[in-house]
Amino acid sequence: MKAEKGISRRQFLTGSTTIVLGSLLSKKIFAQAKDSPPKKSGTRLILLGTGGGPRPNKMRAQSSWVVLVGEVPYVVDCGEGVSRQLVFANVPLRNLRYIFITHHHSDHNLDYGNLVYNAWVSGFKGRIDSYGPPPIEKMTKLYLEMNAYDINIRIPDEGRPPLSPMIFAHEFSKDGVVMQNENVKVTAAVVNHPPVEPSLAYRFDTPDRSIVFSGDTTPCDNLIKLAQGADVLVHEVIHKPSLARLMARIPNAERLVEHIVASHTTHIDVGKVAKAAGVKTLVLTHFVPADDPSLTDEIWIEGARTHFDGKVIVGKDLMEI
Ligand SMILES: [Zn+2]
Ligand SMILES: [Zn+2]
Repeated sequence: MKAEKGISRRQFLTGSTTIVLGSLLSKKIFAQAKDSPPKKSGTRLILLGTGGGPRPNKMRAQSSWVVLVGEVPYVVDCGEGVSRQLVFANVPLRNLRYIFITHHHSDHNLDYGNLVYNAWVSGFKGRIDSYGPPPIEKMTKLYLEMNAYDINIRIPDEGRPPLSPMIFAHEFSKDGVVMQNENVKVTAAVVNHPPVEPSLAYRFDTPDRSIVFSGDTTPCDNLIKLAQGADVLVHEVIHKPSLARLMARIPNAERLVEHIVASHTTHIDVGKVAKAAGVKTLVLTHFVPADDPSLTDEIWIEGARTHFDGKVIVGKDLMEI
């Protein structure tokens, strides 16, 4: 879902346009206003990819989300296709500024380098800071090295600035504030996603909103601590009863199911986490299985509501929250 243009009913009733209401209060205009949600201002959250796991599928793109504060995007995770999802979400790639990686499973980092590259060929000229666990510095360096032939051609041929001096990778493995500017504070917390260590969750505090991304994790006290009182918790989720069907469809499934159960959060337990953290809204994402059409929104919501009575949203690619 994207923000609709046009004036909202709320703006009509409270804004400076009140002065012209007398002449404009036609049925037609109110009908339009009713259909258009209020134009979003302040901090925005767009789910770019909501599927879990490394296998591409038709239903959901791989993990990626973006927080927008003004025109500045803060991209969290870079599953395959993140650049194109940003384009679909009307976030100009040339505006790229900050990237955060939760952990180094491919469904969260496969297009990290490609996103940086795609911003560059889209006219990006500033600076990109990326944050994540080791070895993000080495991955950044090796990506630039791997693509040096193409990059070195495009610099003189297309008049582009050298790419490598524009990228700054920051790596860390512990809890704490990892980035702060005049609008946003980002805090990381180590979560539990064996055998990946560390796997991180991130909390974004902006002037008007607090948003937490669980990354991949089992139910985790450290995440509950990080997410205390947040407006929005974007949390990964699996549907354990459906894993048997997943096993029937793909090779290597037995080992895979063992990993899934031992390192993720069920659609029942995710509600316990949201309740313990006292968040206002729970957004489900990183669905496993990602592409089982028999798993309806009601199934996910019902599970989460077993323990959580706040708002539950079943995430969809390109949904804005
Ligand atoms: Zn994952
Ligand atoms: Zn993972």
